[in-house]
Amino acid sequence: MEKKMIISGKIEETRNQIKEWKRQGLSVGLVPTMGYLHEGHRSLMEAARRENDKVAVSIFVNPIQFGPGEDFASYPRDLDKDAALCESIGVDLVFHPEASEMYDEGFCTYVDMDGLTKELCGRSRPTHFRGVQTVVSKLFHIIPADRAYFGQKDAQQLAVVRRMVRDMSMDIEIVGCPIIREQDGLAKSSRNTYLNDEERQAALVLSRSLAEGRKLVEAGERDTAAIKKCIAEVIGQEKLARIDYVEIVDFSDITPIDSLQDAKEGEALCAIAVYIGKTRLIDNFIFHVS
Ligand code: AMP
Repeated sequence: MEKKMIISGKIEETRNQIKEWKRQGLSVGLVPTMGYLHEGHRSLMEAARRENDKVAVSIFVNPIQFGPGEDFASYPRDLDKDAALCESIGVDLVFHPEASEMYDEGFCTYVDMDGLTKELCGRSRPTHFRGVQTVVSKLFHIIPADRAYFGQKDAQQLAVVRRMVRDMSMDIEIVGCPIIREQDGLAKSSRNTYLNDEERQAALVLSRSLAEGRKLVEAGERDTAAIKKCIAEVIGQEKLARIDYVEIVDFSDITPIDSLQDAKEGEALCAIAVYIGKTRLIDNFIFHVS
């Protein structure tokens, strides 16, 4: 008999289904998303499919991780298309709650952290990670999976979630997955749909500038100021681009470092955020220091 994918908007129903799978001794993989799914999300879902008996995908545009004036209202949504993609990959359950189901009247409990969230995206989006941690923590309670899958595309988010899980002794393995790109190098993102043709071309400056930075690193440069300067210069050549940040931090705790050698656990994160017109895009690479 063909198995049917469950789509649920209810916390209770979803939790009961996961409990039933756990009772049967089945492992569960969770892929948290905001929907409008693309190949980047697909890679996470496929990894979850390979490594677990059951796969749950959450599709929720989380209002509390958007700041005032950000794109919460205009964020693209297409549940039917998303559900079809999930089904084709063999996802077992899609959790798609309304905001009122996740945040009922009187909601006032948040998950926050002192470190990791102040630099990079935390500078221009000061309440963003509090919103992310709160929703991810809620999702882990609703769907107590064995593993949860996050993309390196949002590298700071991956580091924050890993830290939260460690600090709160949450019983879940966080699996980081590589960045999936368009053929021309642009990192896949639901927000790429905001770009017009001219901006789409201009957006290539993100991956191009990082490639130049990486070349410098591969040629032996370890001074982060020199690497950042090289990247910023490439971005500066694109007239539609405006830099939000170009930063190099220790990936383990998201603190700025002067030399790549200073990364305590051997991973330096070079991350950028750039406005192309009104659209803010992010990209990064991680350098493994030997
Ligand atoms: P979002 O729907 O944008 O919140 O993303 C949901 C998950 O998909 C996050 O863990 C992202 O890091 C991941 N993701 C988004 N874009 C990509 C990409 N281009 N490559 C890999 N993972 C991605």
